[in-house]
Amino acid sequence: SETPASLIMIFGATGDLAKRKLYPSLYHLFRKGKLAEHFAVVGVARRPWTNEVLREHVKDSVLSSIHDAEDIEKFISHFYYQSHDVTDSQSYIQLKDLANQLDQKYSLEGNRIFYLAMAPEFFGTIAEHLKIDGLTDTDGFHRLVIEKPFGHDLDSAIQLNKQIRNVFSENDIYRIDHYLGKEMVQNIEVIRFANAIFEPQWNNRFISNIQITSSEMLGVEERGGYYETSGALRDMFQNHMLQMVALLAMEPPIRLTPKEIRSEKVKVLSALRSIENEEIKDYFVRGQYGPGEDNGQQLLGYREEMNVNPDSNTATFVAGKLMIDNFRWAGVPFYIRTGKRMTEKSTKIIIQFKDVPMNLYYNSEKKLAPNLLVIHIQPEEGITLHLNAKQSGQTMETTPVKLNFANNDVAGLNTPEAYEKLLFDCLRGDATNFTHWDEVALSWNFVDKISNFWENKKAEFPNYPAGSMGPEAADQLLEKDGFSWWPVS
Ligand code: NAD
Repeated sequence: SETPASLIMIFGATGDLAKRKLYPSLYHLFRKGKLAEHFAVVGVARRPWTNEVLREHVKDSVLSSIHDAEDIEKFISHFYYQSHDVTDSQSYIQLKDLANQLDQKYSLEGNRIFYLAMAPEFFGTIAEHLKIDGLTDTDGFHRLVIEKPFGHDLDSAIQLNKQIRNVFSENDIYRIDHYLGKEMVQNIEVIRFANAIFEPQWNNRFISNIQITSSEMLGVEERGGYYETSGALRDMFQNHMLQMVALLAMEPPIRLTPKEIRSEKVKVLSALRSIENEEIKDYFVRGQYGPGEDNGQQLLGYREEMNVNPDSNTATFVAGKLMIDNFRWAGVPFYIRTGKRMTEKSTKIIIQFKDVPMNLYYNSEKKLAPNLLVIHIQPEEGITLHLNAKQSGQTMETTPVKLNFANNDVAGLNTPEAYEKLLFDCLRGDATNFTHWDEVALSWNFVDKISNFWENKKAEFPNYPAGSMGPEAADQLLEKDGFSWWPVS
């Protein structure tokens, strides 16, 4: 299954994302025969590079992830470079001339993808210039791929959306949330809707709570400047975490089209119980890491990191309890936590089922373990189902057993990277795994109430040591409901 001919323009071609993700992903598509013969890539950035410099850069980026890169010379011959100033019309006119030449040379039928892989403050400006300076004046399709963050709060997101909607229709806007490209995130829907044993139980009659943890071991690294303006709530929760909640909680769509799936997700986000002001402390916990250690290595506290205010009020951890006030989920808490400098790097979803009506095996002090369905998103990909079975021997004692499915046992190799799948979807014109504007707006609306409240109240930071699972208050959030976080490893 090839994709249509197209010209892919990458704004921010010299940047980190392009190098680590976009070039290797395009190469994989090329090798798998999923990129048509007819494609060309224009790398756009500030530096005065030439085609040759870009091609060597692309080659290095591919070789650093794949060792025997067959046909690499042929692949890089499709790349062109344009040195560019994003605020100058003259630059766009040159870019248009190059695009038109490549259109002819590769028979691209005027199809164009504009991938904005650069600082978000330029997203609106670039989109406007693409139209004013005529880059969208061709017969084919014109799609805009836009990286995160989509705004900083609801107002700025509305503003940005206005600017890009002046040029592109909603159907041609592909807002990246790379979690939606992850194999096991895409699997949530299949586990739910393709298995007779789960869907009938997927509601408040059988599920007691759902826990989603996305922990990182790293601190802010060199991104202190950006992170100071964002924090865990905006950087992870507003987008990736809420997207996973929507997929876990949505109603079965009537069919698997982008429109139907995304409208079910929108309904979940509209049913989120809105939490404001003084109530926030009952539902949300913020944290910031202080100094700590990992295997004898001393770790800096957040306030000591580069480009971070020594008095910073920015949260590097957030835990929350979400309630979805609809028929299916009334009364079932969704507990979410995400943070930096935690004990391990892991993203997991744990669905805890309610206990059996009575325990026939309660002959020792041992309680029956609840059934858990664990969806491992990263770094491992798979599913574990925790059941109770009989201990072998002359006993009726129970023992927990785990049914395990590891994705890499089946695929035999790593599943494709999120970006490879998302680029392929965009080339085919399938926006299912991209965020619709309505989802963006509803998630900001929910998050703004919390971030505004927190911004105006100084927190007692730091409140968890680097290398731990977050502040104690995050444990208490569940304890007061009679639950606790399941260990993620
Ligand atoms: P980067 O700083 O490494 O690269 C920025 C690119 O933009 C460079 O190519 C630079 O030349 C170009 N640029 C900057 N100012 C310019 C100007 N005035 N005119 C022309 N070009 C200009 O950034 P990055 O890490 O690649 O991130 C790009 C986008 O992707 C951001 O929106 C970021 O939030 C998002 N993102 C990045 C990652 C990642 O892993 N790096 C992950 C998720 C999302």
